[in-house]
Amino acid sequence: MIVNERIQKLVNQYHENKFSHAFLFVTNDLGKTHQDIISLIKEISCPNKYKENCEECNLCYQIDSGVIPNIKEIYPDGQFIKKNQILELKENFKTKPLYIANNIYLINQAERLNAAAANTMLKFLEEPENNIIGFFITNNKETMLDTIKSRCQIIITNYEDENILQKVGIEAEEQDLYQNIAKEYLENNLTKSNDLIYLNKSLILNNFDDRVKITKFFNYLYLVLDKTINNEIMEEFAFLKQIKLTKLLTLQKFIYKNLETIPFNVNIELLLDNFCLEMEEL
Ligand SMILES: [Zn+2]
Repeated sequence: MIVNERIQKLVNQYHENKFSHAFLFVTNDLGKTHQDIISLIKEISCPNKYKENCEECNLCYQIDSGVIPNIKEIYPDGQFIKKNQILELKENFKTKPLYIANNIYLINQAERLNAAAANTMLKFLEEPENNIIGFFITNNKETMLDTIKSRCQIIITNYEDENILQKVGIEAEEQDLYQNIAKEYLENNLTKSNDLIYLNKSLILNNFDDRVKITKFFNYLYLVLDKTINNEIMEEFAFLKQIKLTKLLTLQKFIYKNLETIPFNVNIELLLDNFCLEMEEL
């Protein structure tokens, strides 16, 4: 099933022959967009008038399993998507599609295309050959190369924000408290040079009096940073936009490390103090 309305609309556009040859999906959820695009590929390729979870045809099954040679997915190889990955793709698509009507490529984390790879892509994009369709997915349009952006139909696919407070097990009546403390804690930690050790006692230990609560708090902080790092800025934490990415990543790493030791650490206060000392070196 296609969750996103805008992606769903593309099914009709395809059947009305109004389909582009290249799409750039800008999303706040890479996984969900990927899943929706796979569903889209099934809906436009299924020989049996695709029905929900089409089980009638082998083809939909094969698309799900990723074994159709006409559908190629590319992910970053290390930090970037590299030229040789695109050359390989071109080689693959020299022949007319066999199993489905189109040769389809899907570029995941498209902002990671390096310049050489992007240049190699241009032929696909400038002289769209028949039966080649490209899907680019990114959650960071700003860092994407203009050469690619300008040649794609851009589709914004935002999915509803999952409540991360709920995700880490914080009950509804406590959510405001956790959110406010998290905000104050991060603000103080990252933008002011207050005494962090004092802050631990006044903020964390005064409000969260046991290990379970402290664990929930740090789990929550971890996810807040995760969203920020992935460019999903939450209104309450908008100030994090001003913080350098390296600093956010380091803080996230500290939190992860500390979360691992909370269950074994007898003295929570000491653990928090150590955490602060590490933070001060940032
Ligand atoms: Zn099918």
